[in-house]
Amino acid sequence: MASRSVEYFGALLQRVRRRFWHSMPCGDDHSLRRKLLIGTGIALVCTGILATSVIGRSLDDYRRARQNLDGLESYRLILDVANRLSAERGPSNSVLGDAGMTDGTLRERLAAFRSWSDVILEQLSASGGIPPQLLIPVKAQLQEGRREVDRVAAMPRASRSVADVQAAIESMFEVVDTFQPVVAWKVAALSLSSPGLAAPVMTGRILGELREHGGRIASQIMAPVAVGQPLQLKHLVDSNRTRGRILELWRLIGEDVISRGNPLLSAGWRDVERMFFGQGLSMVDGLIAEGRVSGTYSMTADKFTVHFVETLKPLERLRGGFLDVTLEHFTVVRNGALVTLVITIAITTIILGILVGLLVAAQRFVFGPLMRAREAVIVLAEDRPTVPYPEPHHATEMRRLFDAIAILRDSLAERASLTKELKQQAETDGLTGLMNRGALDMIGERHAGNRTGEEAACLILMDIDHFKAINDRYGHLEGDHVLKECVRVVRPMLRPGDIFARFGGEEFVILMSGDDFTGAKALAKRIRTTLEAYEFVLSDGTTLTVTASFGVARGNLGQLAWRQLVEAADAALYSAKSDGRNCVRHSQQLHPTLVPDLPKGRDADAPARKPAVAR
Ligand code: GH3
Ligand code: MG
Ligand code: MG
Repeated sequence: MASRSVEYFGALLQRVRRRFWHSMPCGDDHSLRRKLLIGTGIALVCTGILATSVIGRSLDDYRRARQNLDGLESYRLILDVANRLSAERGPSNSVLGDAGMTDGTLRERLAAFRSWSDVILEQLSASGGIPPQLLIPVKAQLQEGRREVDRVAAMPRASRSVADVQAAIESMFEVVDTFQPVVAWKVAALSLSSPGLAAPVMTGRILGELREHGGRIASQIMAPVAVGQPLQLKHLVDSNRTRGRILELWRLIGEDVISRGNPLLSAGWRDVERMFFGQGLSMVDGLIAEGRVSGTYSMTADKFTVHFVETLKPLERLRGGFLDVTLEHFTVVRNGALVTLVITIAITTIILGILVGLLVAAQRFVFGPLMRAREAVIVLAEDRPTVPYPEPHHATEMRRLFDAIAILRDSLAERASLTKELKQQAETDGLTGLMNRGALDMIGERHAGNRTGEEAACLILMDIDHFKAINDRYGHLEGDHVLKECVRVVRPMLRPGDIFARFGGEEFVILMSGDDFTGAKALAKRIRTTLEAYEFVLSDGTTLTVTASFGVARGNLGQLAWRQLVEAADAALYSAKSDGRNCVRHSQQLHPTLVPDLPKGRDADAPARKPAVAR
């Protein structure tokens, strides 16, 4: 049984292992889940072995207790049968002594007793377990005894001899004697199966024998009483021998053995002493005395039987009471064993349930959330938006973990927005709000090589003419205002994709993607004329006009090409300045020498140098 249980728990462990192993990272020897699984598995196996041993023992106890109880119940039936076979002798004796004056009532009573004997004997046969070879002779002898009784009873009373009646009575003795092997077989079976049963079984047997011999002592003097003849020596000897046996048995069991502190059994014991030993045996003694003197008795066989049987009843009650108490005791033992078995199974089931529950709970409430928390951290690291929130079934510790992840997410988001802001600040010119030189360089250099036309670009470099003079004349703050106004005027003139940046000081850049050099030059010219015409109003209401010089270049974006493009535009601007300012010059930036194409690039519309003029 133990090995079967170990196999069962092994298989269970395998199943649990398969169930949990799949969701486990492979080959992770230090996994907490793996350790927990192994630990719980060992605990499960140990509990299983312990439970098997304890449950096995409890089951054995319960089985033995039930077996004892069943055995005692069938033993009681056997003793009841023996008692009925003994009791049938009473009405038989009455019929044997019947003088035909009783109107057949004695025979009716005998018939009733016989049918009770038959019924209980049939019940015993039907209950099974008794070897048939033991019961067959009993039934045969019962028929034989009854035939003998009927034969003698059929004779007229005057012609019945003592020997005839004696033979009939002894034939009925024989029935009980034939039944003794059944009792002995059951006693042996029960004593062997459970040593605890030996004492009560033996006591029950002795009480049964007391009833048998108690009845027998009367039957042994019944023959002369039945036919009204003097007592013969044989009757006296048999009767005395039986009396000796009865006294011996009575001494053997003793009150303490029978009652064991039970007041009902003690009372029964005293009833037997008073009724059977006091009245019953005195009745026998009186008849023996009468029979030895003459053949005239103070009682008929029936009267003697009826009175004597009354004195036997306390013996029957004592036997029945003793067996009741014994059965009650063994019922309590069996129920106790059953309760122990049920409690053991329940506790074992609870322990195993707790262990399995622990595993499931660990998976659901610890490892599952841990895996999700891990995912959440990865999601945060990869800057993906979805992060799981704590679920209602999560334990406090897990909620705290998810709360911590949420805090991490919020602070990462805050940091990201701060970084974005800083980046914007780093890339923006504080005065004009335009992109600054650093950011522009990054854009210009980011494009790798000049493999495709898409990377071609045109650059306009714009420098306000004589700006220093504005500063000098109106002050630095007014100069700032002029710079901001320039931006405000130029910005609406650009295309959405054009990049407008402050190149430094009073220089600005317009970066246009693509190869539209003509467009770039035209734009520079438009800006120049617009600026020239624009009237700047200072804080004190003073108005002034400003001009700017422009250098336009065509080239490519990319780490090296950008420098070349800027230098080409710068060279063109230099040309514009040299040519008197307020004009547009351009450079093709086709040759590495970057020499500005001054004659070709000269703008026909450009006027001569025109300084800032205050109005
Ligand atoms: P040119 O026609 O040759 O370009 O003459 P310019 O005076 O414009 O050029 P220069 O390089 O001699 O002077 C540029 C002046 O721009 C010098 C500097 O004080 C002024 N400046 C540079 N950045 C700012 C600024 O942010 N605000 C103000 N108000 N002035 C600035
Ligand atoms: Mg300048
Ligand atoms: Mg200038």
